[in-house]
Amino acid sequence: MSRQVYVNGKLVPQAEATVSVFDHGLLYGDGVFEGLRSYGGKVFRLTEHIDRLYDSAKAIWLDIPLARTTMADAVNETVKANGIGDGYIRLIVTRGAGSLGLDPRKCANPQVIIIADSIALYPPEFYEHGMEIITSSVIRNHPAAVSPRIKSLNYLNNILAKIEGIKAGCIEALMLNHKGEVAECTGDNIFLVRKGVLQTPPLDAGILEGVTRDFVIELAQATGITVKEMPLTKHDVYIADECFLTGTAAEVIPVVRVDARIIGDGKPGPVTQSLKSKFSEAVRS
Ligand code: PMP
Repeated sequence: MSRQVYVNGKLVPQAEATVSVFDHGLLYGDGVFEGLRSYGGKVFRLTEHIDRLYDSAKAIWLDIPLARTTMADAVNETVKANGIGDGYIRLIVTRGAGSLGLDPRKCANPQVIIIADSIALYPPEFYEHGMEIITSSVIRNHPAAVSPRIKSLNYLNNILAKIEGIKAGCIEALMLNHKGEVAECTGDNIFLVRKGVLQTPPLDAGILEGVTRDFVIELAQATGITVKEMPLTKHDVYIADECFLTGTAAEVIPVVRVDARIIGDGKPGPVTQSLKSKFSEAVRS
């Protein structure tokens, strides 16, 4: 299906939605992005995604040429123009076309692109029975290199880990940080359940502050579950009663095997199941 894509203030047919080969987003991965979801035509946590986009841009010295409210309107307009009910939105801001050198001062105009489409990240049976992941040997970006809190167009770090997972027969992979602690998966945050307590790595473990992560923490706290943001090791993962991942595209997905070890009893656990259904109800309400 041909989509209407937002490019710098205009909706154009997908075939005409192009960027320059001199764009530093392409040449160097110089830019930022967001992945959002809409449910029943309403974009979930739009303000939070827009705020994270502008924070990412600020961190890389990229001035987005639109007010946040205009950007939010543009996202809504793109969703509407494509008749999207339940869908996925990709919002991209590149440094723009420049010269064949790194210098961002030579880039004229940041390019703002919004694509509204659909996504199916993992097969439905994984949501029902749980998925298997491995720990990648590729560590997450050191926070003093490119901070993992920046959602930048440079995802090679995570892509390398994902390839390692795929080669091992897993569609997602766990990444540790430079200290050997659990950070996150290549496109999802990670949660464990141990003796009824929900555990997840803190932001200073070197992770993206997931919008879904924040929402699941709120949902858990609202149901009286204790949530601990704490440093976690692979050992904590192996001895967890339950494990699940969160992300905009992934939503809430149970994990039942990590590095060939069975987590809990090898089935999606009760806390995971409950948060997964609470999540589905909440986003659709
Ligand atoms: N970590 C990484 C590295 C991600 O790319 C993402 C988004 N796909 C997430 C976590 C989850 O973030 P969110 O819930 O905001 O989509």
